[in-house]
Amino acid sequence: MAGAVARAISAKSELVVEAGTGTGKTYAYLAPALRSGKKVIISTGSKALQDQLYSRDLPTVAKALKFKGALALLKGRSNYLCLERLEQQSMAGGDLAQQAMSDLVHLRGWSAETVEGDISTCGGVAEDSPIWPLVTSTNDNCLGSDCPQYKDCFVVKARRKALDADIVVVNHHLFLADMVVKESGFAELIPDADVMIFDEAHQVPDIASQYFGQQLSSRQLLDLAKDIIIAYRTEIRDVQQLQKSADRLAASTQDFRLALGDPGFRGNLRDLLSNPTIQRALLLLDDALELCYDVVKLSLGRSALLDAAYERVALYRGRLKRLKDVSQPGFSYWYECNSRHFVLALTPLSVAERFREVMDERPASWIFTSATLAVNDQVSHFVERLGVTQAESLILSSPFDYARQALLCVPRNLPLSNRPGSSRQLAQMLTPLIEANQGRCFFLCTSHRVMRELAATFRATLTLPVLLQGETSKGELLRQFVAAGNALLVATSSFWEGVDVRGDLLSLVIIDKLPFASPDDPLLKARMEDCTLRGGDAFADVQLPDAVIALKQGVGRLIRDTDDRGVLVICDNRLVMRPYGEVFVNSLPPAPRTRDLAKALAFLRQTTAE
Ligand code: SF4
Repeated sequence: MAGAVARAISAKSELVVEAGTGTGKTYAYLAPALRSGKKVIISTGSKALQDQLYSRDLPTVAKALKFKGALALLKGRSNYLCLERLEQQSMAGGDLAQQAMSDLVHLRGWSAETVEGDISTCGGVAEDSPIWPLVTSTNDNCLGSDCPQYKDCFVVKARRKALDADIVVVNHHLFLADMVVKESGFAELIPDADVMIFDEAHQVPDIASQYFGQQLSSRQLLDLAKDIIIAYRTEIRDVQQLQKSADRLAASTQDFRLALGDPGFRGNLRDLLSNPTIQRALLLLDDALELCYDVVKLSLGRSALLDAAYERVALYRGRLKRLKDVSQPGFSYWYECNSRHFVLALTPLSVAERFREVMDERPASWIFTSATLAVNDQVSHFVERLGVTQAESLILSSPFDYARQALLCVPRNLPLSNRPGSSRQLAQMLTPLIEANQGRCFFLCTSHRVMRELAATFRATLTLPVLLQGETSKGELLRQFVAAGNALLVATSSFWEGVDVRGDLLSLVIIDKLPFASPDDPLLKARMEDCTLRGGDAFADVQLPDAVIALKQGVGRLIRDTDDRGVLVICDNRLVMRPYGEVFVNSLPPAPRTRDLAKALAFLRQTTAE
């Protein structure tokens, strides 16, 4: 892999590498990148992985190679304290709850001490404190070079450091946001580089479709209303209309949320907008934005905050207009709402063309790697989705000895899913296995409902600690899991990826079902329809490869090191009964297979005894 990366760097070409768990892919791209003497951007899947790369792997390789160049870590702007918003918030005070007020006071003290303003380094304020969105900036509300704090701004400083560095570590969200921001003519966040390396690259197509689309959310509208009120209270007290127009915007935003009805998952925006009640609520929201536009316009030039708000009102009006025009083909129109907020969005069905254009604009080497890119030993699904069809590709299997280290079990007599009581029956069936293994188990679910039902049953029957996703932060849950040494963690979505528990602490991974995305998801539905229109097979070309990649990620949690041993249980008959089950099995690590839970039990007992 290191040789292929070095060749791609010197030839400025494209490379796609699937490198199985334990291959050492991070070192395999870092070493040639550092030795190239070129400017390199490395993008990872999450902030946690970014921190790990920057503070652990990168210094190790840099030291080994005696690399003298400059390294920088660049996060999205919401990770840095915004001095201007801190100042505005402190002056406005007002309606903050007591805890948020004391957080604000704490942050004022911290702002004088911190050098980088990275909020993850600020102790004393909870991760989920409501103060954070008020004292960090977004692209929409940052005042840019008009800001009185521009010279001391932490975002600007971090960006400058990245501009001067040889190796910059970012994440996919930041990278893709920059592609869009740049294209919209705003400031450039990520400096141009000679080499772009994407780790966890399987996530890039989905993240790209978010950024290549358009969204308008209740949070954006309520933040805008809040900023207009702050400008009125602190700088333009003589224009009472500002408060009134902002109040109306906030009220019509909340009314629109109410008109959407019960909180649900994703729905089709095209269908929604044909409903007369929604049309009325949307009209009122549009009117409220128009009123803000007219009122704010009259005070232009009197406050930097209000001037920025004016641009946002114009931007959001444009977005709303675009979102209402649901007749355009090639996009999925969807909405999402929880108990308090909503998002209206349109997402392009394919990002390939746009991503290809971006790559063609930058004559650099583009390298994509992940442990899960291939389906049935082919990376075609990934390269076609992203438009990197000219790339050289390489599939490197894991060096682990799966034949000895792991056992895959698809139990016989599984309860029929989606029947009342099926989660309880599944829990009963697997309890002996979990108890024999003394916990040390991840139960990965494909839905929140099943996750909650399973956790409730296990809590009622097991004496082992049962941890449940969502009850505290992901990091804290993992700390508790490791500290307990005998816990069962019942989880969904976020624990299928990027979790690394090595050794004896995790030797049983159970998956409730093959992770096919719900066909009701409007984006998936639209991608499938588009595939059929192009003459493809929507199941084989869209649903199946997505599910295979997701399953490979979940399965990858089990064996993390050469000494790890463990059992993987997949509670889905389709893996052995349906013809497409072969595609999954061929894409999984080559562990021996059984349908007999007793054999799984014996394997675990032997592992524990060793
Ligand atoms: S430039 Fe933007 S991020 Fe920086 S302090 Fe000003 S408003 Fe905040």
